[in-house]
Amino acid sequence: MVNTPSSPLRILVTGGAGFVGSHLCDRLIARGDKVVCLDNLYTGSRDNIAHLLDHPNFEFVNHDVNHPIFIPVDQIYNLACPASPIHYQYDPVMTVRTNVLGAINMLDLAKRTGARVFQASTSEVYGDPEIHPQVESYWGKVNPIGPRACYDEGKRCAETLFFDSFRQDNIDIKVVRIFNTYGPRMAINDGRVVSNFVVQALTNQPITIYGEGQQTRSFCYVDDLVEGFLRLMATPAGFTGPVNIGNPNEFTILELAELTIELIGSKSVIERRPLPQDDPRQRQPDIALAKSALDWEPRTQLREGLTKTIAHFAALLGKGLVDAR
Ligand code: NAD
Ligand code: UDP
Repeated sequence: MVNTPSSPLRILVTGGAGFVGSHLCDRLIARGDKVVCLDNLYTGSRDNIAHLLDHPNFEFVNHDVNHPIFIPVDQIYNLACPASPIHYQYDPVMTVRTNVLGAINMLDLAKRTGARVFQASTSEVYGDPEIHPQVESYWGKVNPIGPRACYDEGKRCAETLFFDSFRQDNIDIKVVRIFNTYGPRMAINDGRVVSNFVVQALTNQPITIYGEGQQTRSFCYVDDLVEGFLRLMATPAGFTGPVNIGNPNEFTILELAELTIELIGSKSVIERRPLPQDDPRQRQPDIALAKSALDWEPRTQLREGLTKTIAHFAALLGKGLVDAR
């Protein structure tokens, strides 16, 4: 069901200077496409794309997706949005705006250019799920007035806008629901669990477990996620998703802490902190649809992906792994 795209395409990646977006830009450039990376550097960084800035097929546009823009392109990947709870809760009204106005502006651009448009949605649309694993047909359990709602409801509204634009204007949409993804180029101050634990373990600081650490997440390595993006984007028009992309191997947060300490050989001790409000208790993707429609499944398991991520942060911290032991 997956078509091979006819390169070179001109592709807009919003949020392209972020963690996931920069890996996507790398893959598209390597494939021979022309990439316009649009980002306002809210949580992203020029460092993530520094190696691409001189490439003749790469262009960086410093722009906020909340404002309309016209760029003639064949495809749009809409990733612009802070993704870590501490960042999306810092200015929650801005987070809603980015999700809703960003989706409206990218759908308008798709309507004007005829571009295919891809929305980076999230497992957070399932909220604190009552069914396990989470399948795409599940509508979710989200607290609409809680501290996570700016992100969860913002992403849900973006999905609504995408599907209404598909039904109303026949816009060529693709929607992916991303489950917790990690890897090199997460920012040191990102605040999500993998980067926190790795940086804490490398510097022998206490590992901060929120709550008892019995809540679960299923961690996907970034290269696997990007492969899923490309496959979804290459499906025939009319195949809209949403499609879950994630690694179904589920771990408690305590298990993640213990594995991180083991791989680094760290002296860090575990420290308990309060569990944030509405923190989902369990999360695991059902990837049957990704397997059947995209012929996709993750290849990198946590031990291997975490080792690569540790090497990235060790380099960022300016020390070899030996120093951290
Ligand atoms: P990230 O914070 O590293 O990247 C987000 C990027 O969007 C940053 O470069 C940021 O500067 C940019 N951005 C934010 N607001 C913007 C605005 N108004 N205009 C232009 N650019 C803006 O996060 P990430 O992990 O790379 O996430 C990328 C996308 O994937 C996000 O939409 C996120 O919601 C989604 N997602 C990620 C995960 C994950 O585990 N990484 C899980 C679910 C969904
Ligand atoms: N978490 C933790 N310690 C940290 C950061 C996060 O125990 O230093 C927990 C958090 O409470 C949640 C899980 O790890 O249960 C995943 O958190 P993250 O912010 O990475 O992603 P999300 O909650 O959005 O899935």
